[in-house]
Amino acid sequence: MNPTISIVAPVYNEEHGIEEFIQAVADVMNEQELPWELLLVNDGSADRTLEILQEKKKAIPQLEWVDLSRNFGHQAAVTAAIAHARGQAAVIMDADMQDPPSLIPKLIASWQAGNQVVFARRTQRAETGLRRLGFETFHKFFRYAIDFPIPANVGVFSLLDRCAINEVKKLPERNRFLPGLYSWVGFKQNFVDYARDDRSAGTPKQTFKRLIKYASDGVMSFSYKPIRVLGFMGLMTAVMAFAIALYFTAKRLLGYEIAFTGFTTLVILISGLGGLILLAIALVGEYVARIYDEVKNRPAYIVKSTSMDSNND
Ligand code: UDP
Ligand code: MG
Repeated sequence: MNPTISIVAPVYNEEHGIEEFIQAVADVMNEQELPWELLLVNDGSADRTLEILQEKKKAIPQLEWVDLSRNFGHQAAVTAAIAHARGQAAVIMDADMQDPPSLIPKLIASWQAGNQVVFARRTQRAETGLRRLGFETFHKFFRYAIDFPIPANVGVFSLLDRCAINEVKKLPERNRFLPGLYSWVGFKQNFVDYARDDRSAGTPKQTFKRLIKYASDGVMSFSYKPIRVLGFMGLMTAVMAFAIALYFTAKRLLGYEIAFTGFTTLVILISGLGGLILLAIALVGEYVARIYDEVKNRPAYIVKSTSMDSNND
Protein backbone atom coordinates (compact mmCIF):
# COMPACT_ATOMS: atom_id res chain seq x y z
CA MET A 1 0.00 0.00 0.00
CA ASN A 2 1.26 3.46 -0.78
CA PRO A 3 2.15 5.70 2.15
CA THR A 4 0.06 8.79 2.82
CA ILE A 5 3.02 11.11 3.30
CA SER A 6 6.35 11.00 1.50
CA ILE A 7 9.25 12.92 2.97
CA VAL A 8 11.77 13.40 0.17
CA ALA A 9 15.29 14.85 0.19
CA PRO A 10 18.41 14.87 -2.00
CA VAL A 11 21.69 13.73 -0.45
CA TYR A 12 25.19 14.34 -1.72
CA ASN A 13 28.21 13.40 0.38
CA GLU A 14 26.22 13.66 3.60
CA GLU A 15 27.84 10.75 5.49
CA HIS A 16 28.36 12.90 8.58
CA GLY A 17 24.85 14.20 9.00
CA ILE A 18 22.51 11.79 7.29
CA GLU A 19 21.89 9.45 10.21
CA GLU A 20 20.86 12.34 12.41
CA PHE A 21 18.45 13.50 9.71
CA ILE A 22 16.90 10.07 9.16
CA GLN A 23 16.42 9.62 12.89
CA ALA A 24 14.91 13.08 13.31
CA VAL A 25 12.41 12.47 10.51
CA ALA A 26 11.53 9.01 11.83
CA ASP A 27 10.94 10.42 15.31
CA VAL A 28 8.65 13.14 14.00
CA MET A 29 6.74 10.86 11.64
CA ASN A 30 6.22 8.05 14.14
CA GLU A 31 4.21 10.49 16.20
CA GLN A 32 1.90 11.22 13.29
CA GLU A 33 -0.81 8.68 12.78
CA LEU A 34 -0.26 8.36 9.05
CA PRO A 35 1.63 5.81 6.97
CA TRP A 36 4.80 7.49 5.69
CA GLU A 37 7.98 6.92 3.71
CA LEU A 38 11.31 8.74 3.72
CA LEU A 39 12.70 8.79 0.21
CA LEU A 40 16.31 9.90 -0.18
CA VAL A 41 17.88 10.49 -3.57
CA ASN A 42 21.60 9.82 -3.56
CA ASP A 43 23.01 12.35 -6.02
CA GLY A 44 26.23 10.51 -6.92
CA SER A 45 27.87 10.74 -3.49
CA ALA A 46 31.53 9.80 -3.43
CA ASP A 47 31.52 8.94 0.28
CA ARG A 48 29.68 6.32 2.36
CA THR A 49 26.25 7.96 2.05
CA LEU A 50 24.65 5.13 0.03
CA GLU A 51 26.06 2.42 2.32
CA ILE A 52 24.61 4.23 5.29
CA LEU A 53 21.20 4.41 3.59
CA GLN A 54 21.26 0.68 2.82
CA GLU A 55 22.29 -0.07 6.37
CA LYS A 56 19.61 2.19 7.89
CA LYS A 57 16.87 0.65 5.78
CA LYS A 58 17.22 -2.56 7.76
CA ALA A 59 16.17 -0.77 10.93
CA ILE A 60 13.70 1.67 9.36
CA PRO A 61 11.54 -0.05 6.72
CA GLN A 62 9.91 3.27 5.74
CA LEU A 63 13.26 4.42 4.37
CA GLU A 64 13.64 4.17 0.60
CA TRP A 65 16.46 5.34 -1.62
CA VAL A 66 17.05 6.13 -5.27
CA ASP A 67 20.63 6.10 -6.47
CA LEU A 68 21.46 8.38 -9.42
CA SER A 69 24.17 7.41 -11.90
CA ARG A 70 26.31 10.47 -11.08
CA ASN A 71 26.08 13.90 -9.46
CA PHE A 72 23.34 15.79 -11.30
CA GLY A 73 22.97 18.72 -8.89
CA HIS A 74 20.47 19.73 -6.24
CA GLN A 75 17.52 20.66 -8.47
CA ALA A 76 17.83 17.50 -10.58
CA ALA A 77 18.04 15.34 -7.46
CA VAL A 78 14.96 17.02 -6.00
CA THR A 79 13.18 16.50 -9.30
CA ALA A 80 14.03 12.78 -9.08
CA ALA A 81 12.78 12.73 -5.51
CA ILE A 82 9.43 14.29 -6.45
CA ALA A 83 9.08 11.87 -9.36
CA HIS A 84 9.53 8.83 -7.10
CA ALA A 85 7.38 9.94 -4.17
CA ARG A 86 4.38 7.66 -3.71
CA GLY A 87 2.44 9.52 -1.04
CA GLN A 88 -0.78 11.52 -1.25
CA ALA A 89 1.42 14.45 -0.31
CA ALA A 90 5.16 14.97 -0.32
CA VAL A 91 7.29 17.09 1.97
CA ILE A 92 10.36 18.21 0.03
CA MET A 93 13.38 19.26 2.07
CA ASP A 94 17.18 19.31 2.32
CA ALA A 95 18.85 16.54 4.30
CA ASP A 96 21.34 18.74 6.17
CA MET A 97 18.94 19.79 8.98
CA GLN A 98 18.73 23.33 7.60
CA ASP A 99 15.10 22.55 6.93
CA PRO A 100 14.02 21.47 10.45
CA PRO A 101 12.12 18.14 10.52
CA SER A 102 10.18 19.54 13.49
CA LEU A 103 8.27 21.72 11.01
CA ILE A 104 6.86 18.69 9.16
CA PRO A 105 3.77 18.33 11.42
CA LYS A 106 2.84 21.96 10.73
CA LEU A 107 3.12 21.41 6.99
CA ILE A 108 0.98 18.30 7.25
CA ALA A 109 -1.61 20.12 9.39
CA SER A 110 -1.87 22.84 6.75
CA TRP A 111 -2.33 20.16 4.08
CA GLN A 112 -5.04 18.46 6.14
CA ALA A 113 -6.75 21.84 6.40
CA GLY A 114 -7.11 21.75 2.63
CA ASN A 115 -4.02 23.50 1.27
CA GLN A 116 -2.35 21.86 -1.71
CA VAL A 117 0.95 23.73 -1.97
CA VAL A 118 2.38 24.69 1.42
CA PHE A 119 5.59 26.73 1.36
CA ALA A 120 7.92 26.77 4.35
CA ARG A 121 8.85 30.45 4.58
CA ARG A 122 12.10 31.55 6.24
CA THR A 123 11.82 34.29 8.79
CA GLN A 124 15.57 34.26 9.39
CA ARG A 125 18.59 32.33 8.24
CA ALA A 126 21.73 31.19 10.01
CA GLU A 127 24.29 31.43 7.22
CA THR A 128 26.97 34.10 7.45
CA GLY A 129 29.48 35.83 5.19
CA LEU A 130 29.42 35.93 1.42
CA ARG A 131 26.89 33.13 1.12
CA ARG A 132 24.40 34.98 3.27
CA LEU A 133 24.99 38.22 1.41
CA GLY A 134 24.40 36.35 -1.85
CA PHE A 135 21.14 34.78 -0.67
CA GLU A 136 19.87 38.06 0.74
CA THR A 137 20.71 40.13 -2.31
CA PHE A 138 19.10 37.54 -4.53
CA HIS A 139 15.86 37.50 -2.57
CA LYS A 140 15.76 41.28 -2.37
CA PHE A 141 16.05 41.82 -6.11
CA PHE A 142 14.39 38.67 -7.32
CA ARG A 143 10.84 39.96 -7.08
CA TYR A 144 11.70 42.99 -9.20
CA ALA A 145 13.41 40.82 -11.78
CA ILE A 146 10.57 38.43 -12.48
CA ASP A 147 7.33 38.77 -14.40
CA PHE A 148 5.56 36.02 -12.51
CA PRO A 149 4.77 36.47 -8.80
CA ILE A 150 6.83 34.02 -6.72
CA PRO A 151 6.62 34.42 -2.94
CA ALA A 152 9.64 35.88 -1.18
CA ASN A 153 11.91 33.89 1.17
CA VAL A 154 10.77 30.47 0.09
CA GLY A 155 12.94 27.68 -1.26
CA VAL A 156 12.59 24.03 -2.09
CA PHE A 157 11.29 23.19 1.43
CA SER A 158 7.54 22.70 1.04
CA LEU A 159 4.66 20.25 0.98
CA LEU A 160 2.91 19.38 -2.28
CA ASP A 161 -0.39 17.59 -2.60
CA ARG A 162 -0.61 14.76 -5.13
CA CYS A 163 -2.39 17.01 -7.65
CA ALA A 164 0.50 19.52 -7.54
CA ILE A 165 3.11 16.73 -7.64
CA ASN A 166 1.58 15.34 -10.79
CA GLU A 167 1.60 18.75 -12.49
CA VAL A 168 5.20 19.51 -11.43
CA LYS A 169 6.20 16.09 -12.77
CA LYS A 170 4.70 16.95 -16.15
CA LEU A 171 6.76 20.12 -16.58
CA PRO A 172 9.45 19.20 -19.07
CA GLU A 173 11.97 21.97 -18.41
CA ARG A 174 15.61 21.13 -17.59
CA ASN A 175 16.76 24.44 -16.07
CA ARG A 176 14.55 24.14 -13.07
CA PHE A 177 13.81 26.72 -10.44
CA LEU A 178 11.55 24.65 -8.22
CA PRO A 179 10.13 27.31 -5.85
CA GLY A 180 8.93 29.10 -8.98
CA LEU A 181 7.41 25.94 -10.41
CA TYR A 182 5.54 25.15 -7.19
CA SER A 183 4.05 28.58 -7.36
CA TRP A 184 3.40 28.35 -11.08
CA VAL A 185 1.25 25.20 -10.90
CA GLY A 186 -1.27 27.07 -8.76
CA PHE A 187 -3.83 25.23 -6.59
CA LYS A 188 -4.55 26.30 -3.03
CA GLN A 189 -1.32 27.72 -1.64
CA ASN A 190 -0.31 28.61 1.89
CA PHE A 191 2.73 29.37 4.09
CA VAL A 192 4.24 28.08 7.29
CA ASP A 193 6.98 30.23 8.84
CA TYR A 194 10.24 28.92 10.30
CA ALA A 195 13.76 30.01 11.22
CA ARG A 196 16.39 28.41 9.03
CA ASP A 197 19.23 26.73 10.93
CA ASP A 198 22.79 26.22 9.84
CA ARG A 199 23.65 22.76 8.55
CA SER A 200 24.26 20.26 11.33
CA ALA A 201 27.36 18.58 9.86
CA GLY A 202 29.72 18.86 6.91
CA THR A 203 30.14 21.75 4.52
CA PRO A 204 27.63 23.15 2.00
CA LYS A 205 27.56 20.90 -1.05
CA GLN A 206 26.31 23.49 -3.48
CA THR A 207 29.19 25.48 -4.90
CA PHE A 208 28.90 29.23 -5.26
CA LYS A 209 29.01 28.79 -9.03
CA ARG A 210 26.00 26.46 -8.92
CA LEU A 211 24.10 28.91 -6.75
CA ILE A 212 24.72 31.63 -9.32
CA LYS A 213 23.49 29.36 -12.11
CA TYR A 214 20.45 28.57 -9.95
CA ALA A 215 19.76 32.27 -9.35
CA SER A 216 19.97 33.06 -13.06
CA ASP A 217 17.68 30.12 -13.84
CA GLY A 218 15.24 31.64 -11.40
CA VAL A 219 15.25 34.97 -13.19
CA MET A 220 15.47 33.70 -16.75
CA SER A 221 12.84 31.01 -16.52
CA PHE A 222 10.32 33.42 -15.04
CA SER A 223 11.08 36.66 -16.81
CA TYR A 224 12.02 38.46 -20.01
CA LYS A 225 12.88 41.57 -18.04
CA PRO A 226 16.66 41.34 -18.57
CA ILE A 227 16.02 41.51 -22.31
CA ARG A 228 13.54 44.34 -21.89
CA VAL A 229 16.08 46.33 -19.88
CA LEU A 230 18.50 45.90 -22.78
CA GLY A 231 15.83 47.09 -25.18
CA PHE A 232 15.27 50.16 -23.03
CA MET A 233 18.99 50.91 -22.88
CA GLY A 234 19.17 50.55 -26.66
CA LEU A 235 16.28 52.95 -27.06
CA MET A 236 17.90 55.53 -24.76
CA THR A 237 21.16 55.28 -26.69
CA ALA A 238 19.33 55.75 -29.99
CA VAL A 239 17.43 58.78 -28.68
CA MET A 240 20.68 60.29 -27.44
CA ALA A 241 22.38 59.62 -30.78
CA PHE A 242 19.51 61.26 -32.62
CA ALA A 243 19.69 64.37 -30.44
CA ILE A 244 23.44 64.64 -30.90
CA ALA A 245 23.11 64.17 -34.66
CA LEU A 246 20.46 66.89 -34.83
CA TYR A 247 22.58 69.27 -32.79
CA PHE A 248 25.73 68.88 -34.84
CA THR A 249 23.96 68.90 -38.21
CA ALA A 250 22.15 72.12 -37.28
CA LYS A 251 25.38 73.67 -36.06
CA ARG A 252 27.13 72.75 -39.32
CA LEU A 253 24.26 74.03 -41.49
CA LEU A 254 24.18 77.31 -39.64
CA GLY A 255 27.81 77.73 -40.52
CA TYR A 256 29.41 77.36 -37.09
CA GLU A 257 32.96 76.06 -36.93
CA ILE A 258 33.21 72.52 -35.63
CA ALA A 259 36.32 72.21 -33.52
CA PHE A 260 38.29 69.12 -34.48
CA THR A 261 39.03 67.87 -31.03
CA GLY A 262 37.09 65.15 -29.22
CA PHE A 263 39.42 62.19 -29.34
CA THR A 264 38.70 61.32 -25.72
CA THR A 265 34.98 61.43 -26.37
CA LEU A 266 35.39 59.06 -29.30
CA VAL A 267 37.45 56.56 -27.33
CA ILE A 268 34.91 56.55 -24.50
CA LEU A 269 31.95 56.24 -26.85
CA ILE A 270 33.42 53.43 -28.93
CA SER A 271 34.69 51.34 -26.04
CA GLY A 272 31.63 52.03 -23.91
CA LEU A 273 29.16 51.12 -26.62
CA GLY A 274 31.28 48.11 -27.62
CA GLY A 275 31.17 46.82 -24.07
CA LEU A 276 27.46 47.38 -23.81
CA ILE A 277 26.83 45.53 -27.07
CA LEU A 278 28.95 42.55 -26.02
CA LEU A 279 27.14 42.46 -22.70
CA ALA A 280 23.81 42.46 -24.49
CA ILE A 281 24.91 39.62 -26.77
CA ALA A 282 26.11 37.60 -23.76
CA LEU A 283 22.79 38.05 -22.02
CA VAL A 284 20.84 36.97 -25.08
CA GLY A 285 23.33 34.09 -25.32
CA GLU A 286 22.33 32.96 -21.83
CA TYR A 287 18.74 32.60 -23.00
CA VAL A 288 19.86 30.86 -26.19
CA ALA A 289 22.01 28.40 -24.22
CA ARG A 290 18.99 27.57 -22.10
CA ILE A 291 16.88 27.07 -25.21
CA TYR A 292 19.58 24.71 -26.51
CA ASP A 293 19.48 22.78 -23.24
CA GLU A 294 15.72 22.38 -23.53
CA VAL A 295 15.86 21.36 -27.18
CA LYS A 296 18.44 18.65 -26.52
CA ASN A 297 15.79 17.18 -24.29
CA ARG A 298 18.17 15.08 -22.19
CA PRO A 299 16.65 13.71 -19.03
CA ALA A 300 17.29 15.76 -15.89
CA TYR A 301 18.78 12.70 -14.13
CA ILE A 302 19.46 8.98 -14.62
CA VAL A 303 18.53 6.40 -11.99
CA LYS A 304 21.09 3.64 -11.39
CA SER A 305 19.22 1.63 -8.79
CA THR A 306 16.52 1.99 -6.18
CA SER A 307 15.23 0.27 -3.09
CA MET A 308 11.67 0.46 -4.38
CA ASP A 309 9.85 -2.13 -6.52
CA SER A 310 10.45 -1.59 -10.20
CA ASN A 311 6.74 -0.96 -10.89
CA ASN A 312 6.95 2.22 -8.86
CA ASP A 313 9.71 3.74 -10.96
N1 UDP B 1 22.78 18.27 -2.75
C1 UDP B 1 22.61 17.36 -3.79
N2 UDP B 1 23.40 17.48 -4.90
C2 UDP B 1 24.34 18.48 -5.03
C3 UDP B 1 24.46 19.41 -3.97
C4 UDP B 1 23.66 19.29 -2.85
O1 UDP B 1 21.79 16.46 -3.72
O2 UDP B 1 25.03 18.51 -6.05
C5 UDP B 1 21.92 18.13 -1.55
C6 UDP B 1 22.64 18.16 -0.22
O3 UDP B 1 23.05 16.88 0.19
C7 UDP B 1 21.60 18.75 0.72
C8 UDP B 1 20.80 19.67 -0.20
O4 UDP B 1 21.04 19.22 -1.54
O5 UDP B 1 20.72 17.77 1.24
C9 UDP B 1 21.18 21.14 -0.06
O6 UDP B 1 22.56 21.30 -0.30
P1 UDP B 1 23.46 22.35 0.49
O7 UDP B 1 23.14 22.30 1.93
O8 UDP B 1 24.86 22.11 0.09
O9 UDP B 1 22.98 23.69 -0.16
P2 UDP B 1 22.52 25.08 0.49
O10 UDP B 1 21.94 24.78 1.84
O11 UDP B 1 23.73 25.91 0.55
O12 UDP B 1 21.51 25.60 -0.48
MG1 MG C 1 22.19 23.39 3.18
